[in-house]
Amino acid sequence: MLFDPRPKSKREEIFDREKELNSLLGGIEEYPITVLIGIRRVGKSSLLRVALNEFNGLGLYLDARRLYAAGGGAISPAVLVDEIRKILLGKGRFGFLSGIKLESVNLAGVKIAPKEMTIIDVFELLNGLGERFGRVVLAFDEAQYLRFYGPRGGKDLLAGIAYAYDSLPDLGFVFTGSEVGLLHDFIGIDDYSSPLFGRVYEEVEVRPFQRGVSEAFLRAGFEEVGLKVPDEEIKRAVDGLDGIPGWLVEFGFNYWKSGSFERAMERTVERARVMIREELLELEKRSPRYALILRAIAIGLTRWRDIKDYVEAKGGPITNARLSALLKNLEKMGWVRKESGEYRIIDPLVEKILKS
Ligand code: ADP
Ligand code: MG
Repeated sequence: MLFDPRPKSKREEIFDREKELNSLLGGIEEYPITVLIGIRRVGKSSLLRVALNEFNGLGLYLDARRLYAAGGGAISPAVLVDEIRKILLGKGRFGFLSGIKLESVNLAGVKIAPKEMTIIDVFELLNGLGERFGRVVLAFDEAQYLRFYGPRGGKDLLAGIAYAYDSLPDLGFVFTGSEVGLLHDFIGIDDYSSPLFGRVYEEVEVRPFQRGVSEAFLRAGFEEVGLKVPDEEIKRAVDGLDGIPGWLVEFGFNYWKSGSFERAMERTVERARVMIREELLELEKRSPRYALILRAIAIGLTRWRDIKDYVEAKGGPITNARLSALLKNLEKMGWVRKESGEYRIIDPLVEKILKS
């Protein structure tokens, strides 16, 4: 169902996105590394799940953000190895990997117990499986959190991935990220100090729906649940929610359940408030000034000088360099964009909630 608010995993539940899905599948099948970027709630995880399901090899899905949270703000190499092992065991239970012993894996004649396996051992094992299954793809959702892997900002993992890139042809990687700039910084293809420097990769961007697509999406969703909704209400919904599929789904679902435009909008904003509050809390842990900056922009102080005055009035002195760095980070994390010298909040619901 189009208005199902959970992440989708089948092609028929995904509206539009034919092009993105085919590029993603092409990347998964042919490139050692594929990067899938886009702002929060635009549909990355859904597309990734669909692609992994349709992919003609063995796709393993890992949520780096969840591993980071479960590890109390860090991802230990042992936990990652164990997570991959568990996913493989789960697949084994469904018969994908019958005949392969994972409790004590035989690698090139050497028996290695899982506890002693390094991430390189795991990559070699996966590549071995890839030789039998066509290809294995390890997909990290919200991969910018992998910078909390190990003690060196994720460099050890990147070194492993670089080794796989050069030497393990039947193992591929997918990275997705809402914090696009942070993800690019982490992967570091353009950074000569990164282990992955200079490697070729496929990049697929998922953008918010264009106006017409958003309206068509709502119409298709309402038709699917047998509800007649006036065109004028569909247009008003898109005015308020823009083309962000996550919010459009939330609105459609709430309209279907409540039968009223006003109630559906209220519930969508309420739901957004809960989600965005959590994201803001996480942001404030990085720096309490982020929330002040976002609030300044939301209330219309969109120029650098005005933002600075507001932040200093509310939070005390800040150097120019520091404010610039924080603004740059907000861009990298997908909260704001800069257009002809002015800053804008990207997500209209984030703006609305910050204002209230
Ligand atoms: P992201 O991973 O980019 O944050 P998700 O894949 O979690 O986004 O999508 C957010 C919500 O929007 C999901 O719960 C899903 O139901 C819905 N969604 C996203 N893209 C589409 C689409 N193309 N068609 C239908 N629903 C979608
Ligand atoms: Mg996601």
